[in-house]
Amino acid sequence: MEFLPEKLQEYVEQHTRYEGELLHELERETYLKVLMPRMVSGHLQGQVLRMLSTMIKPKNILEIGTYTGYSGLCLAEGLQEGGKLVTIDINKELEAMVREYIKKAGMEEKIDYRIGNAIDIIPQLNSTFDLVFIDADKVNYSNYYDLVWDKVSPGGYILADNVLWSGKIIEPKPDTDTRALIAFNEKVHNDPRAENVLFPVRDGIMVIRKK
Ligand code: SAH
Ligand code: CA
Repeated sequence: MEFLPEKLQEYVEQHTRYEGELLHELERETYLKVLMPRMVSGHLQGQVLRMLSTMIKPKNILEIGTYTGYSGLCLAEGLQEGGKLVTIDINKELEAMVREYIKKAGMEEKIDYRIGNAIDIIPQLNSTFDLVFIDADKVNYSNYYDLVWDKVSPGGYILADNVLWSGKIIEPKPDTDTRALIAFNEKVHNDPRAENVLFPVRDGIMVIRKK
């Protein structure tokens, strides 16, 4: 579901920085070859993530939910010199494609791609992060928030994608994923340790700053 009328959405896309040939090709290949291609961040959201990352200038980024690598490549463009992005995905089948694009982007030194369950991997990470992007299974958003909290540097940011869930968060009879997202949004909104703004970009990005 798009929240903006189609013509306005087109205008927005047309007046947003071109993502470059590689990301364009990655989005295309995702649509051609991968299941559920709607999950790919794509042009507008990718550039929003890149811009936010560039503004934050993170030394370390954690991404939960790599999928085909699109959002990770965008976020990594904002890293400080010598900075690193750790990205986690449980789906082994996308590994070859993700590694190919990391290589083509010349980001092999910057991106640490881990395959496995983020619930198990996050507690093993020793670094602190200036930016965390939560975009994996919706039922675990609140768990990811709790697991990463102590690893986020003071003044650091957590971004959580799809928090509007195509508008389902305000509909009656929410399903399991929707209930989890509603609970997550409430939790963040009522957390005195955090400042939050829900950006109505694409499917909703909760932008959270750790005080
Ligand atoms: N961030 C990507 C899209 C992510 S789609 C982009 O914007 O382009 C969500 C991903 O989360 C899927 O690839 C799925 O395999 C992964 N995922 C689901 N449950 C997970 C888990 N428990 N641990 C790690 N990754 C998980
Ligand atoms: Ca997403």
